[in-house]
Amino acid sequence: MAVTLMDLPFAEDALEPVISRETIQYHYGKHHKGYVDNTNALIKGTELDDEVPLVDIVKNSDGVLFNNAAQAYNHNFYWMCLTPDPMPPSPKMVELIERDFGSFESFKEQFLNAAATLFGSGWAWLELDVNEKLVITQRSNGDTPIIYHHTPLLTMDVWEHAYYIDYRNDRKKYLESLWELIDWKFVASNIIDYYHDLTEPCRENSELCDYIEMLQHENEVTT
Ligand code: MN
Repeated sequence: MAVTLMDLPFAEDALEPVISRETIQYHYGKHHKGYVDNTNALIKGTELDDEVPLVDIVKNSDGVLFNNAAQAYNHNFYWMCLTPDPMPPSPKMVELIERDFGSFESFKEQFLNAAATLFGSGWAWLELDVNEKLVITQRSNGDTPIIYHHTPLLTMDVWEHAYYIDYRNDRKKYLESLWELIDWKFVASNIIDYYHDLTEPCRENSELCDYIEMLQHENEVTT
C-alpha cells in the first residue's frame, strides 16, 4: 500500500475546547481516512502503487485521484499546523511576515479574512511563492500549493466538516479559535526545509537567506 494515514501529532482530545474529540474522530478518522483509502483504491495496480510518495501522486494526477490524493496531503499538513502547546511566532518569523505584509496584525487580518471569505469548500494557505515571498491564497476543494511550485507554510481547512460539529455555521469563530493553536515552529520549519532542499542554497539576491540561520536557531532553542 502506497499511502498511509498519518498518526495525529496529538491526542484526539488535546485540542479541546477549540476542536472537540468528536470533530477529530470525524475529520481525521472518517474524512481524512476516506481520502487516503480512496487514493489507495484508485492507484491500485497502476504505476503509482509502488512506494510513490504522496506528493508525487498529487503532482502526477488529475480528476478524482488528484482530488483524493491532494486532500490526503492537505489534511496531513493541516494537522501538523496545530498544537495543544502553542507558542508565539519567533522574532525572525515575525520579521519575515512584516517584510511581506507590513505588520503581523495586518497579516493575521488578511489570512483570517481569506479563510472566512473563501466561497464554498477549500483551504486558506500561507505559502512561499517562486520568488521566495510569503503569499496568502484561497484554494478551492482539494487545490494545493505544491502543484504551483509553492512551498506550503500554514493552512486552515474551511470545509464545513472541519467546524460544523463545534461551531455550526460560524466559520469566523472557528478560524479565530484555531488561530490560537497554530504551531509557529512548524511554519518556520517549512521555510527551513525549503532552504535545505534547494540544490543551490542562497541564490544571488535571495533575501530569504538572511532569515534562515536565525529561524533555525530560534527553532532549536525552543525545542
Ligand atoms: Mn478537512
